[in-house]
Parts: sequence; C-alpha cells; structure tokens
Amino acid sequence: METITNISSKTLSEKDRKYLWHHISPYNAKADSMVVSKADGAWITDNKGNKYLDAMSGLWCVNAGYGREEMAQAAYEQIKKMSFYPLTQSHEPAILLAEKLNEWLDDDYVIFFSNSGSDANEVAFKITRQYHGQNGEPDRYKFISRYRAYHGSSMGALSATGQSQRKYKYEPLVSGFLHVRPPDSYRRPEGQSIEEFNLHCAQDIEQKIIWEGKETIAGVIMEPVITGGGIIIPHQLYMKKIEEICNKYGVLLIIDEVICGFGRTGKKFGFQNFGIKPDIVTMAKGITSGYMPLSATAVKKSIYEKFKTSSEYGHFRHVNTFGGNPVSCAVALANLELMEKENLTERSRTLGERLAKEMEDLNSHPNVGDIRSIGFLMGIELVKDKDSKEPAPPSYIGSIISECKANGLIIGKNGDTVDGYNNILTLSPPLSCTDEDFTFIVSLLKKVLKAHHL
Ligand code: PMP
Repeated sequence: METITNISSKTLSEKDRKYLWHHISPYNAKADSMVVSKADGAWITDNKGNKYLDAMSGLWCVNAGYGREEMAQAAYEQIKKMSFYPLTQSHEPAILLAEKLNEWLDDDYVIFFSNSGSDANEVAFKITRQYHGQNGEPDRYKFISRYRAYHGSSMGALSATGQSQRKYKYEPLVSGFLHVRPPDSYRRPEGQSIEEFNLHCAQDIEQKIIWEGKETIAGVIMEPVITGGGIIIPHQLYMKKIEEICNKYGVLLIIDEVICGFGRTGKKFGFQNFGIKPDIVTMAKGITSGYMPLSATAVKKSIYEKFKTSSEYGHFRHVNTFGGNPVSCAVALANLELMEKENLTERSRTLGERLAKEMEDLNSHPNVGDIRSIGFLMGIELVKDKDSKEPAPPSYIGSIISECKANGLIIGKNGDTVDGYNNILTLSPPLSCTDEDFTFIVSLLKKVLKAHHL
C-alpha cells in the first residue's frame, strides 16, 4: 500500500479532485487546491515544497502554532491510557479541563463539551430554551443576533448567522432567529459619533425585544468582536448596554468565543475586554489550537441549578458521541498549559499593539478605508475611494491576496459588507509567532498593498 509520503504531488492532486469535497470553496476547474503536507510554528508547507506563513492560523484556530511536541505527547499518552469513553459518565481529562476553563473564564461555569463551534452554539440554544421552560416561561424561544455575524453551519447555528449568502440556499431554517444591525462604526451614519452610533445599535436590540414581545425572547447571541463579518469591534458602551438590556428583560446573554477565545483578542476570552459577565460562553477552535476537534458550552452555575433535578422535564436530553473525547480534552489541557507557560495571551496583546502601530501609515493609502485591530486580530477594509466607502472590487482584493500568497504569506478576506461580498483583509496569525515571523507579515503585506492602488 502507498504511504502518504510516497505519493507524488500530481497523483495526490488527481485523487483530491476525484474523491474530496472541499469545504465552502467553489469548485475550481483551472487550479489545483493547495495540498498541505507539513506545518511547523507559523509556517505550512504544501506537497510541492512551497512554504507559507499562515497568517490565518488555519481557520483562525492554531493559536499555539503548528507542530508542538507537547500536544503530540499528550495525545499519545491519553490514547495509550484510555482512548475513549463518552461523557454520559465521566473521565479525568474532561474533569480537569472543565476546571481549567473555569480558571480562564474567571467565574463559576459548568461545562458541556461537544465537537465543533456549531455544536457548542446548538447546545447553548437548547439549554436556553429549556431553561426558560423550566422557569415557567415556555414562550421564550426567540434569539437575537446580528447581521454579518457567523455562528456556524448546522441549521440552528446557521439560523443565528447573519450572512444571507450562506443561508438562502438552505432555507427555510429554524424559526425564532432574529437579526439586528452590527455596530460597524466605520459605516455609521454621517453626523453620529461612535458612542452615539454604538448606543443606537444596542438600543436596536431593546427595541426588537419590545416589538417582538419581551415574553418571547430567550437569548441574545453575539461574538465580542464580529470576526468572519469583517473584524467589527464594538465600543465598550455597546457591550455594557447589551448586558444591561439582557438583565432588564430576563434574556440570556450568550457570547460566542469560537474565534475570540483563547488569547486572540489579547485577553483570555474576548468578552473580558468589555467587563461583562455572560450567562453562557461558547468556545471551540483555539481550545485545542486546532490539534483535535473539541468545543465547549460554559453555562453559569445559577442556570445549571435549574437542571439539577431528577424530573424527566428537568433533564437536559442532549448527547454527542465524541464531545469531550478524552484525547481531545488531554490535548486541550496541554494547549492551555503551553499557552500559560509561554504567556501567549500577553504576547497576542503586545504583538497586536505592534501590528497596529506598524500598519498606521497605511491609513494614507487611497484604498485603505479603515484598519481595525484588537489583540493579534486585524481587519483592513479596502474601498474604491475613501469618500464613497464603496467596497473595493473583488479583482483588487484577489490580486492582493494572490500576490501575498505568491510571496509566501497567507491572509484572509472577510466582511459580508454588501451582499456576501468580502472586502476586508483579515489577519489572525498564530500567537506564537516569532519576531522574524512578525516582521515578515508586516513587511510583505505593506509592500504588496503599497504596490496596488485602484
Ligand atoms: N462561531 C464562530 C464565531 C465561528 O467563527 C465559527 C467557525 N468559523 C463557528 C461558530 C462554527 O464553528 P465550527 O466551524 O467549528 O462549527
């Protein structure tokens, strides 16, 4: 039998075309996909030997960098010791990880493990609906989220998602998901200050609750910073106001930390930048730095109390076979220990501050409309011209991304600014980037941007 390493790159590409259905990427009849065969630190290598600095950390997840010995060791040890048992009962890696997550969350939460970010959000929706039912308010079934936000691909999580282009082919989706405008301060109405605009956006949520009937609203779900929708960073006022509104109407505040968690925004969790206390926190990706599939729904102890009953109605009837897999939990523990040992959350903050400073002079570029960053996470919004703020055309964005890639740098594009259109360059590099990696990202991206004007 052929071993993976002996297969020529041509044969692999042929097999790839024949057998593999790629995620989200449209079929490309002209170009082969990149077949990634090795990864180390912030760098990936394809099977033709090309090396790239992966400034998107895979899919915003490889926070601790690729190829870490500690994670391989943790997986190996756990597989030898006890490879699988479901969380219908319990095991040591899940118990210890749940304890460790409480330390990172800095509050009292009970942890429900699943496999993916989408799963974690589905669990949050189910717990929220059942919680209200158990509180004698079964009419509370609706969730409010924001346009441009992404919350996952399964039917409930997609219903919460506010990006129409991802949804319309699969409708009708789950009922009871409502959307409001995101706090995109760059595109705020003329004459409004950032504070006023953010306040209005938060008040949209209150208005929605009132108009929909406050006794029907179960939860609000939001990322602390909208990531996939184009790095939309709210004002402090906004998050505080939303917390206040949720408390006022008995609505649970669910914070989706699937990307923002685990150091990405310069804090352990993104919500910690805003001084709020969510009722439910969902997380995935960076929990294992992408080494194993794992996600978690952290639920405030006071909510969990309602489920501590032996009655049939009180029991949360949800299970997934692999959620909290012991190998995944052991790897997550090794990941969090490594992040603590190497101060990667702090490094995210300092690298982010340096990045923001280095990019400042791009503000004079005629097609750079806005540069937004928090921690080691940045969005560069490209426009046709600064006055109209009309998004720069796909060909322009495409040429920048291709040129970066041709020179060994992978960056992302996101936004959903208009009709599913992505005009925002995104950077979410491993938090373990070396100083040389950092310099490479900054110098190449600046060089490419400065050479491309519309
Ligand atoms: N929430 C957010 C904010 C995400 O970015 C994602 C994935 N990119 C998800 C949820 C869904 O996670 P998964 O792909 O693991 O299902």
